[in-house]
Amino acid sequence: MRQLILAADLGATKILTAVLDSSGRILIQEKSPTPYDQEPVKVLEQICASLLGLQQQVGQEGDRVMGAAAAVPGPLSFPAAVMLDSPNLGWKEVPVRDIMTEGLGMPVIVEKDTNMAALGAYYFGSTPFSPNLIYITVSTGVGGGLILDGRLYRGQAGGAGEIGHMVVERNGPVCGCGRRGCLEAVAAGRVLARRVEQMRAGGWGADMDLGPGPWGARELGEAARRGDRAALAVVRETTQFLGQAIANLVNLFNPQLVVLGGSVAQGWRDLISSSLDEQVRSLAFPLNARDLRIEFTDLGEAIGLLGCLAAVLHKERGPGIN
Ligand SMILES: [Zn+2]
Repeated sequence: MRQLILAADLGATKILTAVLDSSGRILIQEKSPTPYDQEPVKVLEQICASLLGLQQQVGQEGDRVMGAAAAVPGPLSFPAAVMLDSPNLGWKEVPVRDIMTEGLGMPVIVEKDTNMAALGAYYFGSTPFSPNLIYITVSTGVGGGLILDGRLYRGQAGGAGEIGHMVVERNGPVCGCGRRGCLEAVAAGRVLARRVEQMRAGGWGADMDLGPGPWGARELGEAARRGDRAALAVVRETTQFLGQAIANLVNLFNPQLVVLGGSVAQGWRDLISSSLDEQVRSLAFPLNARDLRIEFTDLGEAIGLLGCLAAVLHKERGPGIN
């Protein structure tokens, strides 16, 4: 008898829905762009409809659905799973769990996307069950999830892990959260184009062959590999900001593993991995850096779905879900 899990990952740019089996195999998956012209309730209902449709397509006689889980952007209040005021989606006070539980007709575990990804890395990463693990995504935005002593750490109200809003540049650029100088305001995918403009305005762009844009992480990465000075400068500066933030986390939490994911981090892996490692080690306490490994996840965009699976499988027994 197959045990099936329904999983959804709602991101700022795309929505993934999938049916997985209990071994972590994705049996069927659907991807669609995140709509910004619809009410949150409608978007969540569409996610539920997609999940039920996928289940119908892949289902066989005798299958049992073990449960459903969804990864959604924060801030997400805990334990109510209400999305409070998401700077990435522009949603306010959305009771995600209630809406999805009604839409699917079964209980749904709802967790902040970066926490789900941390669970994915913890259970399905290259070094499973590393008890002290920090997951960091550098994508459209920057976020994180903390596994401390083998448990997901949510903090008092559910707000832990907001690594993207650590201040790394006092009086720096305005962030989506309304404050200034957050890591996300200087290192996220969505601010790369603005930073290229600034480089050009500052005289860096004379020999740039980037073309008219728009520039995303991929275009900048390609230009940096060709030796473009402005692109290299943006990549280097991003690495420094990330390194500074990670070193602060390493000094605070002494993790064994820092796992990087997200389209920017993964797309730039060859460009930043060794310099990021150097940066962090030069800024962290030697004791804290002694056992530290910084990895780029191989789970790709499935990491959130695998986290959803882990959340369902381990909700009653394993560490990580409490
Ligand atoms: Zn911020």
